[in-house]
Amino acid sequence: MRGELRKDLATGQWVLVRQPEQEWQADAECPFCPGNEHLTPPEIAAYRKEGAMPNGPGWQVRVVPERNPFFQVEDDLLREGLGMYDRISTRGASEIVIEDPAHDRALAGMAEEQVVRVLWMYRDRLQDLKRDAKIRDVLITRRYKKPGARIPHPYSRILAAPIIFGQIRTELDRAREHYLYKRRCIYCDILREEIAAEARIVRLTPHFLVFVPYAARTACQTWILPRQHACAYETVSPEGVNDLAGLLKGLAATFDRALGDPPFELALHTAPNLAVKLLPDEWATVARDYHWHLELTPHPERLALVGGITVNETPPEQAARLLREAWAATR
Ligand SMILES: [Zn+2]
Ligand SMILES: [Zn+2]
Repeated sequence: MRGELRKDLATGQWVLVRQPEQEWQADAECPFCPGNEHLTPPEIAAYRKEGAMPNGPGWQVRVVPERNPFFQVEDDLLREGLGMYDRISTRGASEIVIEDPAHDRALAGMAEEQVVRVLWMYRDRLQDLKRDAKIRDVLITRRYKKPGARIPHPYSRILAAPIIFGQIRTELDRAREHYLYKRRCIYCDILREEIAAEARIVRLTPHFLVFVPYAARTACQTWILPRQHACAYETVSPEGVNDLAGLLKGLAATFDRALGDPPFELALHTAPNLAVKLLPDEWATVARDYHWHLELTPHPERLALVGGITVNETPPEQAARLLREAWAATR
């Protein structure tokens, strides 16, 4: 067995059951460094300087398959019942976005135009993967200083699955419910509330609100919410991408200043593949009820749970003040 998705009937949540993951081995040489392209599987996409050949050096951003993937394009999509249980094969994709040719460049130190390229690559991969009718959802995450990670080279991970990822499913259900009662997007409501309240704002730019959510799950958890309603990241404008690149760099420097260079996780929450419907009226209101955003979580390893409730020992208002001051001090 390579892997399969099993549904927990009691909670409705999917579990990926598989053999233990073998991570990339950064032996002597880093497989993500220019000149070592032969150490990765053939590339899926890349931005290159003019004249540079695929699978050789000269790239600016490079996307390759994960070596030991959670989900694979080559698998068949099998949905089957096993007695009363459901299982689905791991048909999808697991990709690595190598963000910068430089081996140990942290996000805070990356050139802004390089962050811009990475953000366009996210858009390109989302568009491409959503053309696949067997892919239901695509999740882009980025771990900085992951404990036990062998490769410090900056990269993001793209997972495309034949199911909707759990946290996105919860958000989609909540957003739809809010819309059905109020005919408004819950995230647009949050935007208005937070801008009026001011206490949890970290930054307000022409395109984005950066804030610590009212019920942040950990100290200094931060959301970047577009001020213009849109359910899918792929529709982002060039001005929006430029603004977002500056915010990501700024937030990385701010976390460094406020929290002493902490590990952090970034997750892009965006609409699933709306072209794939299991039920006829699925996604009927998603364009109006869901709103893409980024979630940044410093010290994700400190996420503490008591009886299923998250414990946050830094009040969000205090965290926002700390981050505002740290942002100002980094300028
Ligand atoms: Zn490297
Ligand atoms: Zn909205």
